[in-house]
Amino acid sequence: MAKIQMTTPLVEMDGDEMTRVLWRMIKDELLNPFIDLKTEYYDLGLEYRNETNDQVTIDSAEATKKYGVAVKCATITPNAARMTEYNLKEMWKSPNGTIRAALDGTVFRAPIQVKGIEPCVKNWEKPITLARHAYGDVYKNTEIRVPGAGKAELVFTGADGKEIRQTIMEFDGPGVIQGIHNKDKSIVSFAQACFKFALDTKQDLWFATKDTISKVYDHRFKDIFQEIYETEYKEKFAEAGIEYFYTLIDDAVARVMKAKGGFIWACKNYDGDVMSDMVSSACGSLAMMTSVLVSPTGVYEYEAAHGMVQRHYYKHLKGEETSTNSVATIFAWTGALRKRGELDNIPALCTFADKLEKATLDTIEAGKMTKDLALITSLKDVTVLNSENFIKEIRKTLEASL
Ligand code: NAP
Ligand code: MG
Repeated sequence: MAKIQMTTPLVEMDGDEMTRVLWRMIKDELLNPFIDLKTEYYDLGLEYRNETNDQVTIDSAEATKKYGVAVKCATITPNAARMTEYNLKEMWKSPNGTIRAALDGTVFRAPIQVKGIEPCVKNWEKPITLARHAYGDVYKNTEIRVPGAGKAELVFTGADGKEIRQTIMEFDGPGVIQGIHNKDKSIVSFAQACFKFALDTKQDLWFATKDTISKVYDHRFKDIFQEIYETEYKEKFAEAGIEYFYTLIDDAVARVMKAKGGFIWACKNYDGDVMSDMVSSACGSLAMMTSVLVSPTGVYEYEAAHGMVQRHYYKHLKGEETSTNSVATIFAWTGALRKRGELDNIPALCTFADKLEKATLDTIEAGKMTKDLALITSLKDVTVLNSENFIKEIRKTLEASL
């Protein structure tokens, strides 16, 4: 069979440790034999980030803006221990943070559903995609431990020197206060990314805040979403047969538990933090969660939601067998290839992505899986495969379907 040809390169961001090992296997076994893979390769492995003073991360983000689609392997965010382990010149910033800042994006995360790994919530028939605003609120706060009686005030001094001042609390004893903020610009890009992604994936969009209590702060989020919806998306949503739905956050939580799934749930930063962990753990495994960063200009970066699976890598280095799940990393590739195929009008590339995803799920449903899934599956008589053999089994299923 002739290999599928590509026209525009995919930005390929290689990474660290166990996921770097899987990356190589996925390319060798599942991609290169079938596609004349055209990528612009950036090595975001910590060694090369250190060698280039992290310039490679910045370059890869710029390349993503240029070509529109990237696929990323998990990368180490250095801490003190990594400074010595990798003999680093500096404690380089999180590559995901750098890329997110450059693309000004929103992160969408969805569980990969497969028969035999049922969500704890029985009525979730389709995945729920979490869209988390990744700027501000409690993550960029200022806090004071109030020592005793006194007056706490909220003060804004304009660039023109004009002051806005409000009393927070007249304290009669010790307590705590906190200052948080967000920016219209950031909320607008969050909203834009959510509406675009809903349209792109033809799913309803839900958004919720606590605007009844937070009549200025949360209400600003609600208003910005509503205004963008009315002016830019109302007609497009109607054409696509999808809905935008706003409700209060507590009502949203109650409805989510009773819903069938198959929608996007846009959350403010803190709600997104806690709710994405709830959705993912209800669906079984971190290794079954996809993640895509979408910029307001429509640039896409696909990755797995999990990290480099460090513990498995240290076993691998000692020559011990590992059973690391490559599903989310495979789906990062298929997501990126499908998007490239859509943008460049190469249906064969989209079909290949669909078939590779199906082969991956069919392999698991046939009872062949890695240890993390074997521990939670409802299937009987499963075969636990090592990292490499799981990928080789997927290749067999894929070849049979091509
Ligand atoms: P991790 O990769 O999320 O893995 C934590 C544990 O979850 C593993 O030890 C393993 O449990 C299980 N697990 C996760 N992925 C798995 C897979 N594919 N197959 C089987 N089991 C899997 O976290 P980590 O290794 O502790 O690394 C944390 C670091 O990852 C953080 O420092 C952060 O910088 C980085 N990180 C990077 C990204 C990214 O680049 N996209 C995302 C998240 C975190 P068992 O050991 O019990 O088998
Ligand atoms: Mg969290």
